[in-house]
Amino acid sequence: MRVSNERAEIHNANVVTDVAEAGGCGLSNLQNGATCGLPAHHDGPCDFVAPHDVFDALAERDVRP
Ligand SMILES: [Zn+2]
Repeated sequence: MRVSNERAEIHNANVVTDVAEAGGCGLSNLQNGATCGLPAHHDGPCDFVAPHDVFDALAERDVRP
């Protein structure tokens, strides 16, 4: 599956596969490593948290693979 680069705000971003496979958005900022802890295909902007907090953030939202 191709990742769209049409939106300017994600030009410097990447998807963390482990997070995506866990049911999360997983969009990650390449510059600081912060990763989105919201469910996949969430509405609104990403909520970036520290990489080691991503799975906790998903668990708080009851996101499961
Ligand atoms: Zn996101």
